[in-house]
Amino acid sequence: MCAALTAGGVSAQTLSEPQPVEYRQALANQYIHEILPYWQKRLQLNDWNVYILLARPEDLRPGTLGNIHWDRELKTATIHVMDASGYPADLIAMLKDMQVTVVHELIHLELASLPVSEADRSNQEFAIDHITDALLRTDMSEAPSGYSSASGPPETSPSE
Ligand SMILES: [Zn+2]
Repeated sequence: MCAALTAGGVSAQTLSEPQPVEYRQALANQYIHEILPYWQKRLQLNDWNVYILLARPEDLRPGTLGNIHWDRELKTATIHVMDASGYPADLIAMLKDMQVTVVHELIHLELASLPVSEADRSNQEFAIDHITDALLRTDMSEAPSGYSSASGPPETSPSE
């Protein structure tokens, strides 16, 4: 794999080998906390207090990679991202998917002031997936330090 991911002194070489789950969880946790402020700023959501944490796959709705809950009055939000136990061994693919999830959930926050009827929900998910994809494509050359990957645009994944 042609990837430039270097986190905490981890070389691309070691990333191609299977890693213990504790290591993968620690890397995932570090990564989501690093990209959150970056994307929060890019999406101009700095007036929100956004918390982020990993969640076990069984604690998420089946078929989703994350979710977000917010309080519009308090301007607080919590993003859950599926933890490393829900991903196959490929760390690069895992981190890419996690970034897709973070951006997707932040766009939900961007739209938080708009009322969404049940009938519009799937349309909204569709639109958010497209916007996420577009943002990440334009972001390829300017991703947060150390986490950029040279191997094509990230794949979109279903998240709540
Ligand atoms: Zn969604």
